[in-house]
Amino acid sequence: MTKFWGDKRYNSLNYFLRKKFGEKVFKISLDAGFSCPNRDGTVSHGGCIFCSERGSGDFAGSRCFSISKQFKNIKEMMNKKWKQGKYIAYFQAYTNTYAPIKELREKYNEAASQEGVAGIAIATRPDCLGEEVLNLLEEINKKVYLWVELGLQTSKDSTAKLINRGYDLKTFEEAVENLKKRNIDVVVHTIFGLPEEEEEDMINTVKYLSKLPIQGIKFHLLHLMEGTPMVKLYQQGRLKFLTQEQYIKLICRAITLLPENVVIHRLTGDSPRELLIGPMWSLKKWEILNSIDKCLKDNDWYQSLYYSTN
Ligand code: SF4
Repeated sequence: MTKFWGDKRYNSLNYFLRKKFGEKVFKISLDAGFSCPNRDGTVSHGGCIFCSERGSGDFAGSRCFSISKQFKNIKEMMNKKWKQGKYIAYFQAYTNTYAPIKELREKYNEAASQEGVAGIAIATRPDCLGEEVLNLLEEINKKVYLWVELGLQTSKDSTAKLINRGYDLKTFEEAVENLKKRNIDVVVHTIFGLPEEEEEDMINTVKYLSKLPIQGIKFHLLHLMEGTPMVKLYQQGRLKFLTQEQYIKLICRAITLLPENVVIHRLTGDSPRELLIGPMWSLKKWEILNSIDKCLKDNDWYQSLYYSTN
């Protein structure tokens, strides 16, 4: 029988958070002023080839301000539109476990103490989760609901090298295991449309993730942005954009492969219009989301329909 999560055929973040906290929960994206080992030379200098100047935090608050000030400013803006709700303080830009422990603890606690905060989300790399950091995350997880986001993007080794991700699958799997041992929820980022990937490579990434103990997934459409190293590949003809129809079909197939408990945090990406080189159809976010709903309905597909443990 067809499964539904509220009015959706997939377990959406909105549905999950409403159920967990009993009201609407908004994310507040922060830039805590951290760096990234894949940019500062520790792992590499170039960074992941799709990563923007702002360390994939293009819609986050400004690092010129404290966590409290960023939180307050964004919350005030949101309150003009939505009067009621709780908040997830989202450490989004750069690598948010890449700093001395004292500084990390102060910033996480500062975020957790803001009025209305129901939880914290921390985006990081699997190779920045040493024992000390894991212990700190465990400590935070006992105070406030926490999830940790890991940017895997793909399970294909050759693509990981091409995009200069800078760590291997073993490192990723160990990080997932270590977080699981500490009862910390893990959300994984994937990107569809990476250079030199076929559709089946993207589907294989989802199949791979469906067998790991993760609690959430973010699907991103690859955006090519001005100023990123990937522009060069595009100019060399090594990057072809997915069409809107291709992407929608791929996402719907991916949804059917996930177990029902995995929360889908995102079905497409965002990028600032002024930096976007393509695909330009990605700017029609509502149209994409509606088309995904329609495609699922027309095929009578839903999350977990083709999930397999084999
Ligand atoms: S790990 Fe994150 S912040 Fe660092 S280069 Fe890659 S995408 Fe950018």
